[in-house]
Amino acid sequence: MTILGCGAALPLPGRNPTAQVVNVHEKQFLLDCGEGTQIALRHARVRMMRIDHIAISHLHGDHYLGLPGLISTFNLLGRTRALHVYGPPKLQEVLALHQEVGEGRLDFPLHFHPTQTEKRAVLFEDKSVVLESFPVRHRIPTTGFLLREKPKEPGVKREWVRDHDLVPSEILALKRGEDVVRPNGEAIPFSKACHPVPDARSYAFAADTKYWTAVAEFVQGVDVLYHEATFDDGMKARAEKTYHTTASQAAKVARDAGVGQLVIGHVSARYDSPSLHLDQARAIFPNVVAASDGQVIPVQAHL
Ligand SMILES: [Zn+2]
Repeated sequence: MTILGCGAALPLPGRNPTAQVVNVHEKQFLLDCGEGTQIALRHARVRMMRIDHIAISHLHGDHYLGLPGLISTFNLLGRTRALHVYGPPKLQEVLALHQEVGEGRLDFPLHFHPTQTEKRAVLFEDKSVVLESFPVRHRIPTTGFLLREKPKEPGVKREWVRDHDLVPSEILALKRGEDVVRPNGEAIPFSKACHPVPDARSYAFAADTKYWTAVAEFVQGVDVLYHEATFDDGMKARAEKTYHTTASQAAKVARDAGVGQLVIGHVSARYDSPSLHLDQARAIFPNVVAASDGQVIPVQAHL
């Protein structure tokens, strides 16, 4: 996961508004697209034409105003492959208006998929990954997103195929995780005949939200959770009023969800650094880092 923008509503040098890109087996998922995302993608050397999925959490400007520009650039660069955009229904109108007033025509198919904020939903799925949305609590309808890698099919070791003359039906059984027992009683144990399968990983982005205990259920057990911590604990009342979260509230969500690592971001422009937030969060959930623009955060299985 690469942080393209870790800032809150007010863009600052080195603190772009929200955007991040997650690389899952060379499939790039862009989560939110604040102003400056295009340039941040170039700084991060992400192959932006490989972004086929863009998910927008909500329609506050600091989370989507980079999208019309990015779509325009895709067109300018001669994109032909389809682009899938997931977001609140009104985003489709916003994008259509940009096309209409510029009398432009996209040379690539843009498929819009409206999100809904009542319950969790699968937005995209293929053989290696699932993209889900889950509701959060902000001033306007907002969703977080969860990317879950699917478990890889185990590979059968070549020497076992050769030395034991495994037949296709036996290989398929092993790939399903089954032990094989032959008619003559010979056992081919899955654990010995197959390569170990790496644990599937998961990443959740909780967007902008007030402290809401249900978020911990939606992101239960993920390996890395990005949660906003707009305010420090001294500004709890303001966080509540503006539908944002404090540092220790974000840490509580991480703790209650049993995540591997917490990344806090969206720190208000009133703070020069996130050090106070980090101290407050760490007291509740030790494995926490503060996001910074350009930072690459590896997602590793933790359970
Ligand atoms: Zn925001």
